[in-house]
Amino acid sequence: MADTLANLLKEERTFPPPPEFTAQANARPGVHEEAEADWKGFWMRQALERITWFTEPTEILDDSNPPFYKWFTDGELNLSYNCLDRHLESSADKVAYHWIGEPGDERTITYQDLHDDVCRFANALTELGVRKGDRVAIYLGMIPELPVAMLACARIGAVHSVVFGGFSSDALADRILDADAHVVITQDGAWRRGEVVPLKANTDVALARCPDVRHVVVVRRAGNDVTMKDGRDVWWHDVVEGQAATFEPAVLNAEDPLYILYTSGTTGKPKGIVHTQGGYLTQVMTTHSWVFDVKPDTDVYWCAADIGWVTGHSYIVYGPLANRTTSVMYEGAPNHPDFDRLWQIVEDKKVTIFYTAPTAIRAFMKWGDEYPARHDLSSLRLLGTVGEPINPEAWIWYHVNIGGERCPIVDTWWQTETGAIMITPLPGVVATKPGSATFPFPGISADVVDDDGNSVPLGGGGYLVITRPWPSMARTIYGDPQRFIDTYWSRFPGRYFPGDGAKRDEDGYFWLLGRVDDIMLVSGHNISTTEVESALVAHEAVAEAAVVGRADEVTGQAIAAFVTLRGGVVGDEALIEELREHVASVIGPIAKPKSIVFTDDLPKTRSGKIMRRLLKDISEQRKLGDVTTLANADVVEEIARKAAASDEE
Ligand code: ATP
Ligand code: MG
Repeated sequence: MADTLANLLKEERTFPPPPEFTAQANARPGVHEEAEADWKGFWMRQALERITWFTEPTEILDDSNPPFYKWFTDGELNLSYNCLDRHLESSADKVAYHWIGEPGDERTITYQDLHDDVCRFANALTELGVRKGDRVAIYLGMIPELPVAMLACARIGAVHSVVFGGFSSDALADRILDADAHVVITQDGAWRRGEVVPLKANTDVALARCPDVRHVVVVRRAGNDVTMKDGRDVWWHDVVEGQAATFEPAVLNAEDPLYILYTSGTTGKPKGIVHTQGGYLTQVMTTHSWVFDVKPDTDVYWCAADIGWVTGHSYIVYGPLANRTTSVMYEGAPNHPDFDRLWQIVEDKKVTIFYTAPTAIRAFMKWGDEYPARHDLSSLRLLGTVGEPINPEAWIWYHVNIGGERCPIVDTWWQTETGAIMITPLPGVVATKPGSATFPFPGISADVVDDDGNSVPLGGGGYLVITRPWPSMARTIYGDPQRFIDTYWSRFPGRYFPGDGAKRDEDGYFWLLGRVDDIMLVSGHNISTTEVESALVAHEAVAEAAVVGRADEVTGQAIAAFVTLRGGVVGDEALIEELREHVASVIGPIAKPKSIVFTDDLPKTRSGKIMRRLLKDISEQRKLGDVTTLANADVVEEIARKAAASDEE
């Protein structure tokens, strides 16, 4: 296996779409050109063909007040109706979710079941006083009540704000206050690696700071003891009891808000991103169908993200349900009870499409090839990734060990703010290159520009920009439209600036280089952290790497690397020298890290992204910034100690 990996990497191969794929893919060759010829008409066609409207829109795009764009402004619809009711005639008994609890319990939820549960809970929320436009905070783990609660809000026209169940009570309180939510939905406790995370107790702590919360609905899941506050707290099973399994879906305008979702907080204070109805559903459905090539009647689709992130909103809930998909939903940790839990599920449920993050793939690599090898993964036909640039080494590992060298991989670039996938291969259409997200989705227009906003010719790198509006774009930052303008629309007026660096190769392929804040300037050369990290990860001793530029009197910035090693490898001086030479030989001497620190873990956000900002603070011996969105705050101390020790040498 190691040989295959090395060879595949060395060849810098392109992977053409398998012909049998192209023949049957949802997106056929030519779709990019077709959409480009009339991009507004393209989106209008998708909106009309895919969505069941109560009133069909006649206006496509209102661009009279940029950057506050509006789409399909005179259309009326309901997303819960589109995700549920309209499927009932043909597919009431079709499975919407194969839900798997971490302790091993399972629930099979059909479209009829889901519809009925959503209606009952919509009735219950209405009884609690929730009305159209009200914000509802949802602090749940990956249990079926999470999509039920979201869809019940959507049915009423209430705005959900899902707060990832791994967040602390402080993070929850901040988000409840920012959105001014008066109702919170939570659970007694959530299973995580065999232990119970006390979500209700966390909520109680958070609510000490949130006097305006009137009702807390509590799902009983783990059975741990909780305190119920009289007059405020009610059990989910009590409030849904006796409720009708019907609820008239609210007739909503395409531009009514659907949800608020806070960004991961990798770069700073999270932003409350607002998404609306019609444009969002249009792009989420189109991308879900074309990027994952989902065939509703035969595929078993599994997006292994958490619904607490945008990936779960768009590609576990709204996209798959609106597209009448059968999905797998898993409650727990990937390494519980053992490192092969996910592969066991793929085998049991005969999963055909699997979508995860590079950080997870690097963890699978570190755990070892033997875990996937224990299982029959032959049902898989397509793989996807999202969340960070994927190192070519990890791409190839995924291709070989999970995809059996047979499955196309879609590396999808997008953000909370974009609502849906923006840059991605289409599996029947685009040849892939490991590490490249390839091309903008049909109808989307992106460019790479320099400091002055001029387009950089092919072969060069700079800032990624999106050059025209798209249907699922964020409409604002909740309560702070000025921050929306300042953050995304001011650096390059008239264009959307996502904050990421990118380069295009001679074939026009986009290679995402990570956040522009992370790009280093060493002796006058721009060097991307992603490229140096990928070079390090390609070395057989390295499991994961994070690289930052720290201030240096001579070179402006010097490259500081933090490296976790594969099992059994000992990090010594000789290995440091070997790794520095390795990077020099892969990229060039200019990219040689000045320092390398070995560590057991890297600081990551709760969504698994490396927090380079903190490593930079450590390297420059600064006081550490906000660590509230960190998943593993304790590693920071260890790294700071080691970095200080290596500085003294
Ligand atoms: P914050 O904006 O609060 O700092 P965040 O940017 O991590 O947090 P998300 O919206 O979840 O929050 O992540 C989007 C970012 O993730 C993108 O801007 C990009 O930097 C990175 N990203 C996502 N997918 C890819 C991909 N396929 N390739 C490269 N980078 C990606
Ligand atoms: Mg971001």
